[in-house]
Amino acid sequence: MGRGLFYLRLAQRAAARAIAPARDHEATTLDRAMMQRALDLAREAGAMGEVPVGAVVYRGDEIVGEGFNRREVDQDPSAHAEHIAMLDASRRLGSWRLDGCSLAVTLEPCAMCAGLIVNARVPRVVYGARDPKAGFAGSLGNLLVDERLNHRVRPIAGVLERESSELLKRFFAELRKRKR
Ligand SMILES: [Zn+2]
Repeated sequence: MGRGLFYLRLAQRAAARAIAPARDHEATTLDRAMMQRALDLAREAGAMGEVPVGAVVYRGDEIVGEGFNRREVDQDPSAHAEHIAMLDASRRLGSWRLDGCSLAVTLEPCAMCAGLIVNARVPRVVYGARDPKAGFAGSLGNLLVDERLNHRVRPIAGVLERESSELLKRFFAELRKRKR
């Protein structure tokens, strides 16, 4: 590769990084292990007929909160996986501040959950599949890095993305089949 081309690529990569959240390669082995646990929780949700999304809050290598989507079973519009996992973590830690924690969730957080992430001062969020219809961690907007807010989160997108989105795709394909 010529030197000019090399620097062009470098600049392009830097520009792409400025807009998009960091990609999978910035996730650690621990993040990926936690995402595997979140995927297990998502499968639990799917088995209950819920849209399969799962989430884990962890501090170091210790899980301090877990949740999966329970919107149908609870008939609760706020019963999203990461919402439940954060409330679980706050209860267990006895603190509304989750500032020493990371959150792994299989689907990009919506506006409500991104808002809670900011309010709970979670410093790092790792997510799997993008949500082009409701995601507010890069897709429709990004509340996690909004400079007008008093807390900024580091989003790491695309961790076990294929597994996370396959799970969702299979769920919706199955749903369509049953409706026919
Ligand atoms: Zn949400």
